[in-house]
Amino acid sequence: MRSVLLLIAALAAGLGLAGFDDRFNTVPEAAEGPAVPYVEEPWVRPEGPLKVALQAGHWKAREAPDEQAGLRDNGTSGGGKAEWEVNLAIARRAAALLEKEGYVVDILPTTIPPDYFADVFIAIHADGNPSASASGYRAAAPRRDRTGRAADFAELLTKSYGEATGLPLYPTVTRRMTGYYAFNSRRYEHSLHPMTVGVIIETGFLTNARDRRIIVNAPDRAARGIADAVIRFLGPVPTPSSAD
Ligand SMILES: [Zn+2]
Repeated sequence: MRSVLLLIAALAAGLGLAGFDDRFNTVPEAAEGPAVPYVEEPWVRPEGPLKVALQAGHWKAREAPDEQAGLRDNGTSGGGKAEWEVNLAIARRAAALLEKEGYVVDILPTTIPPDYFADVFIAIHADGNPSASASGYRAAAPRRDRTGRAADFAELLTKSYGEATGLPLYPTVTRRMTGYYAFNSRRYEHSLHPMTVGVIIETGFLTNARDRRIIVNAPDRAARGIADAVIRFLGPVPTPSSAD
């Protein structure tokens, strides 16, 4: 009996921790939907060059569609910066690195074009916490992933972002991250095509001085970590001669 009570106490403490974490993680979570989105079989990738989508989290949030009106007013801030500014600066730098490698890159705002397809999609965010000591980055794949590849990509991204920035890895991800609205094509028109390999990264805590030294003051390093993961995951862009 005593051990059961201890177990219950331990579980409650664990849930409390997760709740604390979720409360301050500002990523907008989509409501639950059915298991896995429907895709016609066999699925054929649309014609066109390798395409990478980098979403600057909370950018142009006021323009969010009515079905996602809750997105219009959120995001964190710190060090005199709004989160979207930090996310956009990193996205633009990562885009420049990837375009140099030959990829086609879209930088997306809060609003995802309906049924949007790219070979990879990365939602770029920054964390905030009332405790200035909370520090680190984290990346997550969708809870429901039709592609079967997002977890591998999230793992690659976790590794390369840590290498490029030297930031510590935050030990947990939240349900707000794994249930990110852009991943929920069953519920929202403005969401990713189910065969887009999507991940989300919290690049660091905007409320932490050490993390700001990277994400605010050295966005090139954050961008490098993101671009490297894409290059490792997608491989080199085929040159015109080798594409024939
Ligand atoms: Zn955010």
